[in-house]
Amino acid sequence: MRRRQFVGGLAAAAGLAACTRQDDGGAAPASCAGETFEWSIATSWPPKFPGLGVAVNNLADRIAAASGGRLTLKVYSAGELVPAFEAFDAASRGIVEMGHDAAYYHKGKVPAAQFMTAIPFGMTFMEMNAWLYYGGGLELWRELYEPLNLVPFPCGNTGVQMGGWFNKEINSVADLKGLKMRIPGLGGEVFRRAGGTPVTLPVSEIFTSLQTGAIDATEWVGPYNDITSGFHTIAKYYYYPGWQEPAPALQAYVNRQAWESLPPDLQSIIETSCQAITTDMQAEYTHGNAAALQQLLGDPNVELRQFPDGVLQYLKSIAQEIVEEMVANDPMAAKIYESWSSFLAMSIPNQRITEQAFLATRR
Ligand code: CA
Repeated sequence: MRRRQFVGGLAAAAGLAACTRQDDGGAAPASCAGETFEWSIATSWPPKFPGLGVAVNNLADRIAAASGGRLTLKVYSAGELVPAFEAFDAASRGIVEMGHDAAYYHKGKVPAAQFMTAIPFGMTFMEMNAWLYYGGGLELWRELYEPLNLVPFPCGNTGVQMGGWFNKEINSVADLKGLKMRIPGLGGEVFRRAGGTPVTLPVSEIFTSLQTGAIDATEWVGPYNDITSGFHTIAKYYYYPGWQEPAPALQAYVNRQAWESLPPDLQSIIETSCQAITTDMQAEYTHGNAAALQQLLGDPNVELRQFPDGVLQYLKSIAQEIVEEMVANDPMAAKIYESWSSFLAMSIPNQRITEQAFLATRR
């Protein structure tokens, strides 16, 4: 799994000479200045997919540049090495050293992983980062993935998503009844309890399903990604806000043995580069969404709609109920929920008088 190469000739001799082993009972070798690592990173994204996929190529470029080529990542898009949702297992088992996707794709295996992506009506981008980096969230994430042999890193965030594309108006809770919508994860479960029929479809199948009427509605990401998928050409109403995924974080993860084989400076480069990708992705989406929304607002066939407050409050109460059920029989989920919900409760009054109050002045 771990392919090591030593630079040739004299440099190799110098590098090897600098390598001192800590013969103290099988501890990892100390760093070797000349040692290089060629790793593979498997992802869930189509090749060069705007935002989510491009971020992984950016991550590889940053790590290679910062390490002077000592750590390189070969990026595998969905299906190239393993299927879209199997990068996680592949890294866990050491088939690849790293992976990149969203934690909530693996809720079947780790239900509490959903806290590390997004919870309906949960945290904003700023709050998610505050909780992860300053509120103990990242430590809990590492503890959660310990049994999976993975070391996780926040690595990207799309910001608040959109509620989705609808061919029927949503004026009240009753309009959700019988509605068939592509909406995965906890949001889908909320939608089911509200009387709708949630379906999970990969992005490649959404357009045709909506066009043929197999589904009545779909959520995907936001204007930047949605406009590329062409949903505005086949659906009339574009609803906001994205209550189901306020600010989903993406994740990178490293196989634990691969992680432990790295010298501390390369570990630090991975950690810092992932943090940089989170900032970079947020900037890309903030810019891309603004430009795409401007285009959509100029399209006479698109109607931008806000979900009625009564509908949002109803969905929020169901979301609360579902999260409480999820943590009831899962001690690790309960531990994470305690930390997550305490921080969110503490943050809300502060956000109310800062971001929220300021944004309200932009009328
Ligand atoms: Ca989404």
